[in-house]
Amino acid sequence: MLPGRGLRGYADCAHRYNRQAAAAAGIATSGMLESSPAIPGPAQPPMQPDRTAELEALLARRILILDGAMGTMIQRYRLDEDAFRGGHAGCLAGHAHDLKGDNDVLVLTRPDVIREIHDGYLAAGADLIETNTFGATSIAQADYALADRAREMNLAAARIARGSADAWTAKTPDRPRFVAGALGPTNRTASISPDVNDPGARNVTFDELVATYAGAIDGLVEGGADILLVETVFDTLNAKAALYALEEAFDRLGRRFPVIVSGTITDASGRTLSGQTVEAFWNSVRHVAPLAVGLNCALGAALMRPYIEEMARVADTFVSCYPNAGLPNPMSDTGYDETPEQTARLVEDFARNGFVNIVGGCCGTTPAHIRAIAAAVAGLPPRRIGDLALAA
Ligand SMILES: [Zn+2]
Repeated sequence: MLPGRGLRGYADCAHRYNRQAAAAAGIATSGMLESSPAIPGPAQPPMQPDRTAELEALLARRILILDGAMGTMIQRYRLDEDAFRGGHAGCLAGHAHDLKGDNDVLVLTRPDVIREIHDGYLAAGADLIETNTFGATSIAQADYALADRAREMNLAAARIARGSADAWTAKTPDRPRFVAGALGPTNRTASISPDVNDPGARNVTFDELVATYAGAIDGLVEGGADILLVETVFDTLNAKAALYALEEAFDRLGRRFPVIVSGTITDASGRTLSGQTVEAFWNSVRHVAPLAVGLNCALGAALMRPYIEEMARVADTFVSCYPNAGLPNPMSDTGYDETPEQTARLVEDFARNGFVNIVGGCCGTTPAHIRAIAAAVAGLPPRRIGDLALAA
């Protein structure tokens, strides 16, 4: 009985997901999609064309706007356990593990919510939106007993974001919108021991990370991502696994995608959690020739300033920056205190000093923050690669 029910539940979920994702993405559902229980969709992945040249031309002309926090916006919906499962008849209604808090599963169970959040950021002026896949790796999803659904989540998330971006591009063809497929750090670190008594211990290997990222990348590419974004890098070894998986995927596909790598400085010493300075971090990832490299999350913009300045000085590629709305404050509603105007003023300072090419927001930021940031940097020239390095 049980295996049969399990299988049927899965097929129902696939069916429902295809219809919901299609509806959320504004795609007319075809008969083929309706009748097929297979998740991966068409045999030939509908890959996006290579948009590197288009992005480089835009970045040379103006500062591009990235969206803001996904988690902060999801919180506002106050979804309960039932909602995370997609309701009583939802595709994960019978899942054996609690799902509340698994923001990534919402691309399967509540694509309408994720689509609405993307639309909010695009309406606020975002040129690039991130897929809702920060934790959609098989390693991170194991916490919810959904490791085997990670690839499907990435596929669904990319399709939702693609639909939203394309709808906004159609409204304003002079303002093309892009989908950045987000690859988060996972909840394990390859270079730090989880056991204080055993410095050599690791709870994940490089190869396991490469395998988990490969699945996520497949889904993102097939779902229509334009860019692959390795973000919130606190352990460079994890990021290197993601970059390695990307290189393998590019070899497989016979083409490259533009890549953005964004590190996270976790404390006032100006280092990542795995101990690297900004310059060391850049030197660890520059071999993949990313479209952009930058910093996000952790410290808000005010404390991030010397580090983004350093990145702007050392990196011979475009620089991105999407800080949190200040430092975390557990007493605040969103967990962060900065108003849209405060964050925008700090990011404007980065732009005026020629530090940045792509700006947006991380934890605690909202469409109001992105709207304020977009207004604050509108008309300011983008950083020119090499300017600060020459001056130094
Ligand atoms: Zn963040």
